[in-house]
Amino acid sequence: MAKIYREEDADLEVLKGKKICIVGYGSQGHAHALNLRDSGVDVTVALPEWDRESWQKAEKDGMKVVSLEKIEGDLIAMLIPDMVQPEVYRKFVREKLKDGSAILFAHGFNIHYNQIVPPKNVDVIMVAPKGPGPLVRRMFVEGKGVPALVAVNQNASGKALDIALAYAKGIGATRAGVIETTFKEETETDLFGEQVDLCGGVAEMIKMSFETLVEAGYQPEVAYFEVLHELKLIVDLIYEGGIFNMWKAVSETAKYGGMTRGKRIFTEATRQEMRKILKEIQTGEFAREWILENLAGRPVYNKLLEMEANHPIEIVGKEVRKMIPWFK
Ligand code: NAD
Ligand code: MG
Repeated sequence: MAKIYREEDADLEVLKGKKICIVGYGSQGHAHALNLRDSGVDVTVALPEWDRESWQKAEKDGMKVVSLEKIEGDLIAMLIPDMVQPEVYRKFVREKLKDGSAILFAHGFNIHYNQIVPPKNVDVIMVAPKGPGPLVRRMFVEGKGVPALVAVNQNASGKALDIALAYAKGIGATRAGVIETTFKEETETDLFGEQVDLCGGVAEMIKMSFETLVEAGYQPEVAYFEVLHELKLIVDLIYEGGIFNMWKAVSETAKYGGMTRGKRIFTEATRQEMRKILKEIQTGEFAREWILENLAGRPVYNKLLEMEANHPIEIVGKEVRKMIPWFK
């Protein structure tokens, strides 16, 4: 079992007298900046001049905002999209790192795949909340917290873990619990989850079941409710109490049909493919593909996204969702 760090394992005093610079004021950036400030930490936000929207939002929230050229701090948190981090690091961050500095990430991709290679004399740490930024902020305001992962990739100061835990406490994460991991484990499991299960797996499962019903002559609206809309009820049951909680809640027929037929959809061939996808993540093959795709201007990404947007289930979905009064 993993070790879980709680409030008493983390000390905010560790950040006392330290200047924290949060680069980015998006999903994670705004939540970390506000929560740390409210925890009494000295926070500055650094933003590109062209992003007036983030800039105004940060100022309206009462944050001190500087341009990327003025990045400065004992701890610099890279809370901008992963694919732009290496360039921002090379142009604005590398030269600012000195003995005793810490650089912090909320996802391990760039460190794990060597897209950012910080000098040996700085701490390299991760605090990765297991939830989107707005939830990280909302829970904090309510006196609660979102669980997080922490990791240390370089411990130059000898205090890297204490700094990461103090940061985690400052954003409210130790109120819920913080699990220690490595950059490798966080990066590889995160990519695997989103490719196989969360995003890739779920999207293909829904579309293929929808297509199967529609090609057999069933009405698309009925198919939509069945394979997409109702998925939320099932996921909520799993989320709150585990898979067995879902089995307990569904009908006897659903239990028997699901337990016998589900295994024919996810077969040993599916397992082999999952292992292959995991290998591509572990060897860096996926990382190389995605980095090169970005350098090429995202030709495959853009085409696939367009195909997703135009899938028949999207057209039906727009109409069907108008019937549902609790969707604005
Ligand atoms: P985001 O897309 O919300 O970041 C937007 C911010 O980045 C804006 O303030 C914008 O000004 C800045 N930005 C965009 N392009 C820039 C550029 N070229 N130069 C400088 N600044 C630029 O990012 P996010 O979703 O908060 O993700 C930040 C980090 O947190 C990533 O490493 C991500 O993997 C990780 N993370 C995100 C979530 C999440 O729920 N969004 C959860 C866990 C971890
Ligand atoms: Mg992910």
